[in-house]
Formats: sequence, C-alpha cells, structure tokens
Amino acid sequence: MLVCPTGALSFKTEFDMRAAWTWDEPARTETTTVCAYCGVGCSVTLHVQDNEIVKVTSPHDNPVAHGNLCIKGRFGFQHVQNRV
Ligand code: SF4
Repeated sequence: MLVCPTGALSFKTEFDMRAAWTWDEPARTETTTVCAYCGVGCSVTLHVQDNEIVKVTSPHDNPVAHGNLCIKGRFGFQHVQNRV
C-alpha cells in the first residue's frame, strides 16, 4: 500500500535502481517475516534482488499493520547483513 496518493514518495533504492535500469521485477524474491525493531510484531515482506534487500512492504491482510509500516520497519533495513 502506498500512503502517498500520487506515488511521489517511493523507496530510494527502487528509484535509484530504476534510474540505472537495474530494477528487475522477475529476478526479485519476496519473503514475509516479522519486524524485529519493536514488540508490535508487524509482518514485513522483504523484496530481495541479487542477495540484497531492495524494498520492504507489509501484506495488506496482516491484522497488525494492515499493509502499513512505521518508518523503522519500512526503511530501516540497511542494518541487515545482506551477504550470504
Ligand atoms: S514496523 Fe514499526 S511498529 Fe511495526 S514492529 Fe516494526 S518497528 Fe514496530
């Protein structure tokens, strides 16, 4: 769910990758897990491309977050080690 009704606010990672023509929808995988930042327990879906998290969303049918995440859950994924 985009909160911005015009779609003007987007992920910097997605914006930068689209500008560089490296955003590859079919190559991305999605894994849903639980945000570990606080005890609320929002579900987060990690969008991964080339072994790096490129975007975080939340399932719309999640009873806790209803598709919305706070700024930490949505944009605080840079602390995750992406190397496998
Ligand atoms: S998204 Fe925000 S409110 Fe939800 S668990 Fe993470 S830190 Fe807590």
